[in-house]
Amino acid sequence: MSRTNYDAIVIGAGSAGLAIAYYLTLEGLQVLVLDSEASPGQGQNKAAIGGVRATHSDGAKITLCLQSLEFYSTFEEKTGIDLGWVPGGYSFPVYREEEEKILKGILPTQKKNGLVIDWYGPERIKELIPGINENGLRGGTFSPGDGQVSPLKYAAALWKESKDRGCEYHFKEPVTRLVVKQGRIHGVKTGKGVYHSDIVVNAAGSYAKEIGAMAGIEIPVVPDCHEAGISAPMERFFDPLVVDIRPGPEGKTKNFYFGQNDRGQVIFCYTPLVPILGTNRENTSEFMTVIARRMIDLIPRLKNMLIRRVWRGLYPMTPDGIIILDRVREVKGFYLAVGMCGQGFMLGPGVGLNMANFILRGKPVIPQEIWNSISFYRDYYAGRKEALK
Ligand SMILES: Cc1cc2nc3c(=O)[nH]c(=O)nc-3n(C[C@H](O)[C@H](O)[C@H](O)COP(=O)(O)OP(=O)(O)OC[C@H]3O[C@@H](n4cnc5c(N)ncnc54)[C@H](O)[C@@H]3O)c2cc1C
Repeated sequence: MSRTNYDAIVIGAGSAGLAIAYYLTLEGLQVLVLDSEASPGQGQNKAAIGGVRATHSDGAKITLCLQSLEFYSTFEEKTGIDLGWVPGGYSFPVYREEEEKILKGILPTQKKNGLVIDWYGPERIKELIPGINENGLRGGTFSPGDGQVSPLKYAAALWKESKDRGCEYHFKEPVTRLVVKQGRIHGVKTGKGVYHSDIVVNAAGSYAKEIGAMAGIEIPVVPDCHEAGISAPMERFFDPLVVDIRPGPEGKTKNFYFGQNDRGQVIFCYTPLVPILGTNRENTSEFMTVIARRMIDLIPRLKNMLIRRVWRGLYPMTPDGIIILDRVREVKGFYLAVGMCGQGFMLGPGVGLNMANFILRGKPVIPQEIWNSISFYRDYYAGRKEALK
């Protein structure tokens, strides 16, 4: 008979859950990971374009992503496994005073939290992004330690590394109920049976709210739909991921961002001006026309780019755009690693490291005051907002 008792159960083999399972397994725990999909990273993890930056305005996001960057930039050296790491940094080119003020305004917070970043004049930005439209270019920021990774390679690597150390994965097995008695969690139920553990982690991404409801907990995470695309490979001509935070002239988009991956493909995405809430993932007819115009305006030579495919995925959004990592006070043993927003992939390894420490030792690796700021019990409407979400 197969095993039913575990030291910890993680719901979701995605950007966050895989890293949590990996770190708990490294600590010697017997871990079970359950996922509705057929293999690791098939939820929103694979929808990500693979950008990994610590360039945020929120101290918690900066600190967690710096830990992820340390993980991503050294993983191949330590394990021999290629993650598609491209250490090209991130650049935010600027054309208007408004965006210059925003980016310069958050530089002190970014530097205080340990991010290597600076403002550069137009000449440096032109070197970093050859062919960028020079008309009105005021300069921009560049953070050389940021980079890109392949989300699918990341998922496969963490799955393999944790599985080789004894972590169990059950795919195509959604959690349908949580076993909660007298304010304590005892395990989970699926269509195939009951699994017991005193530690259960909700890392169900865009479905975190539904898992919380199984324990009578209201989790403020909603799916917010974003579309992306990828080109055919071409000769590498720029290294950084590029983010343009101007609103689009067409009145439909906020920022848009893109980078050239380890195969030379340009991978791109935009943020709709009005959030598209819900789980509909059908492609829209307007995405390519809108983003093509924005990209060609910024880098005219991209007009020759061949598009391979487009897709839509979900950001698991919180009201303030900031992650939730915590334990549920009302249900002992029930933990939350949810609300990754548009940065779950870049947050993933930092989330795993800190959640494993918090679960095992009652404290995170990052400073306690930063940890407190990402509590489930914070005021989401206090006015704090991530400026670069
Ligand atoms: C177009 C686009 C571009 C993006 N680009 C980036 C980027 O460049 N960098 C970045 O960091 N992030 C990016 N993101 C965001 C990133 O994809 C998400 O933040 C991240 O994947 C969320 O991680 P997660 O672990 O919370 O969720 P997921 O990766 O979705 O994992 C949750 C898992 O839980 C499983 N699950 C759900 N319900 C159940 C259940 N009842 N039982 C068992 N399993 C369940 C799901 O199947 C899923 O596998 C992008 C997102 C989109 C849509």
